[in-house]
Amino acid sequence: MFRVGLGHDTHRTTAGKPLLLGGVEIPSDFGLDGHSDADALLHAVTDALLGAAGLGDIGEWFPDTSAEFAGANSADLLRTVVTEVTVRGWRVVNLDCILFAERPKLSAFKPQIAARMAELLGVDPSVVNVKAKTGERVGPVGRGEAVQAEVVVLLEMTP
Ligand code: MG
Repeated sequence: MFRVGLGHDTHRTTAGKPLLLGGVEIPSDFGLDGHSDADALLHAVTDALLGAAGLGDIGEWFPDTSAEFAGANSADLLRTVVTEVTVRGWRVVNLDCILFAERPKLSAFKPQIAARMAELLGVDPSVVNVKAKTGERVGPVGRGEAVQAEVVVLLEMTP
């Protein structure tokens, strides 16, 4: 049995914070604003896993109104969800994602991001694919106001 899951996230850009994407800190003169560490890609991965397993969404699991998750490490949140999905018998077949950022240029970081996400998911890096696009200078991404991520994941029930 297979299940597909979809994840999407948006975070506003802001000065004076680190730019974390996929658990990797990217050199940048701006970062992302949010209740947690604002790692838009890991949030989208978390949501895709929850969706595939029929377990709701990241806001239900880790409310951004909760002081408990203020400044939360998104890798920790993802690990929690990976455990929940795994104990229900699911394993990740593959994951594909797109990062949307006008800058900085992310292409050089794609292998590092894929490797880090594979580590967090407990899968081989060959089944994690990272793509990056700009916003073509239009919309919130293109104007540099936001960074977005989209993720699709396939889960298989283990025998
Ligand atoms: Mg988020």
